Amino acid sequence: MRCLVTGGAGFLGSHLCERLLNDGHEVLCLDNYFTGRLQNVSHLRDNRNFELIRHDVTEPILLEVDRIFNLACPASPVHYQFNPVKTIKTSVMGAINMLGLAKRVHARILQASTSEVYGDPAVHPQKEDYWGNVNPIGIRSCYDEGKRVAETLFMDYHRQNKVDIRIVRIFNTYGPRMLMNDGRVVSNFIVQALKGEDLTIYGDGNQTRSFCYVDDMVEAFVRMMDQDEIIGPVNVGNPGEFTMLELAQTVLELTNSKSRIVYQPLPGDDPKMRRPDISLAKKALGWEPKVNLFDGLQKTIEYFKTVV
Ligand code: NAD
Ligand code: UDP
Repeated sequence: MRCLVTGGAGFLGSHLCERLLNDGHEVLCLDNYFTGRLQNVSHLRDNRNFELIRHDVTEPILLEVDRIFNLACPASPVHYQFNPVKTIKTSVMGAINMLGLAKRVHARILQASTSEVYGDPAVHPQKEDYWGNVNPIGIRSCYDEGKRVAETLFMDYHRQNKVDIRIVRIFNTYGPRMLMNDGRVVSNFIVQALKGEDLTIYGDGNQTRSFCYVDDMVEAFVRMMDQDEIIGPVNVGNPGEFTMLELAQTVLELTNSKSRIVYQPLPGDDPKMRRPDISLAKKALGWEPKVNLFDGLQKTIEYFKTVV
């Protein structure tokens, strides 16, 4: 198959490109390098099945491909709030352009949606049939609402134009190649611990998240794309749930760091809890995460030791 990965030079995209090449596919890696880096994929450039395209998904493009993995969009709150208008354009116009391409060349297309479609959830854990609790006018809305509109576009292109879609709702995922200045909690805590700086907990640290290791997530993408039974949306994530205080303490233990924990103000609309119900993914994809937080953090710490 010839696979297009938008956002292919980013954290998840680069791991996906690597996996698809290992599975024997041709890979077109498309990116505008906003949060992605050439060095994330530089080890793939000698592979004759790998091709790089510098392009912005807010502009149309015509390519002959069999499959599209639409990952282009900054994922860290710090980066997606840097230029919120651009973020929503990336999600919405990017979805329109990629769905138009899929329609034209009859490609199967997967959307990297997010647990943020549930907002600050009033139902816990979150199941796919929960419609969410999203502020339409807050600082996270450019991302949350952009991703919600993208899901709507995917469903409408499917119903109206018979485009062969797949939607995965990704819960917090971490691992090697996250940016040092990414701003997300796992990379922040690890980098701070390795540098001996204070670990910055926002709020009281009792908010929860569920963290999935990148290899498990890539496996879920591949399984979702390879099956013909369901189009989604399907929750993909690790159901282990931790407070940010527990995460900070675990990172301090694993890095043997003498850093202190400090408390900073909680950003607006920060979800209080998040945990995926993954029954659908288990049943339909035969998938569940294999890497626990302890092991995944160790691998991620080893990576950051090489770059900090
Ligand atoms: P990332 O920021 O590392 O990757 C995003 C990539 O998209 C980058 O390479 C960036 O340069 C590229 N990009 C951004 N805007 C673009 C544009 N207009 N045109 C072309 N390329 C553009 O983030 P990630 O963690 O790898 O996330 C990948 C996808 O998965 C995103 O769509 C994100 O919303 C989704 N997701 C990730 C998580 C997570 O925890 N990692 C959770 C939920 C959803
Ligand atoms: N967070 C934190 N310290 C940091 C960065 C983030 O306490 O240095 C908190 C943040 O407020 C949120 C959680 O960690 O409650 C996860 O944040 P992240 O930005 O990783 O992802 P998201 O909020 O999108 O799930």
